[in-house]
Amino acid sequence: MIKANIIKPEKASEEISCDDCKIKYSSEDYTTLYKSKKIIYSDIRVPGTTYVLCLCHDCLFKYVKHASGGKETKLIMLDDGKEFHFKFDPDDLNK
Ligand SMILES: [Zn+2]
Repeated sequence: MIKANIIKPEKASEEISCDDCKIKYSSEDYTTLYKSKKIIYSDIRVPGTTYVLCLCHDCLFKYVKHASGGKETKLIMLDDGKEFHFKFDPDDLNK
C-alpha cells in the first residue's frame, strides 16, 4: 500500500516541480491546471525513509508501478483528510 498526499495549489510554494520529470509550474499556473484536472502534484514518503518526493500524477503512477514490483497494489491519496482509494493492477497499466 502506498500513501500520497495531494498538494493543494493554495498550499504549494511559489513554484512547484516534480522530483522525477522536473516539470514545474508557478503556483498560479498550478491553480488553473489543478482546477481543470490537468495536473496534480502529490507528496509521497519513500517507505523506510524520511525522504519525501514531490511527484506529478504521471510520475506518481510510474512510481507506484515500480514500487509494486508488478503486483497488484493499493494507492491511497489523501485530500484534506479524505481518502481516495485506487487499486493498481499492473496488467491494466500495460494496456
Ligand atoms: Zn513528473
